[in-house]
Amino acid sequence: PTLPYDPDNIFARILRGEIPCRKVHEDEFSLAFHDIAPQAPVHILVIPKGAYVSWDDFSSKASDAEIAGFTRAVGKVARDAGLVASGYRLLANTGQHGHQEVPHLHVHIFGGRQLGAMIP
Ligand code: 5GP
Repeated sequence: PTLPYDPDNIFARILRGEIPCRKVHEDEFSLAFHDIAPQAPVHILVIPKGAYVSWDDFSSKASDAEIAGFTRAVGKVARDAGLVASGYRLLANTGQHGHQEVPHLHVHIFGGRQLGAMIP
């Protein structure tokens, strides 16, 4: 089941400017910043500005403009980080089995080294 949106989750607080982040991109629909505990030389999180708990919530409720804007932002952030030539990985942990820890949709961008095979 999709949880109700918690307006005090850490990424909501980052969006409100209540806690700092190392911002790499911002536009009408999206914010991107470095993960606080990077798992790769490049580890960036991209979040929609809207109050969406998860990929499920976003993909079922967001407007086409938000979805298009967010999708383009993820691609642009990876491109601007110089990851396209060597490649990168996108990850959106969703819900309990997905081990989602922060209940505001975020897409992880990992790159900058050879990543392992994706073994769940
Ligand atoms: P999840 O398991 O929900 O997909 O991942 C949450 C991610 O958010 C983790 O990679 C964690 O390091 C990152 N994170 C948690 N709190 C903060 C924070 O306050 N600032 C930043 N920049 N990243 C955070």
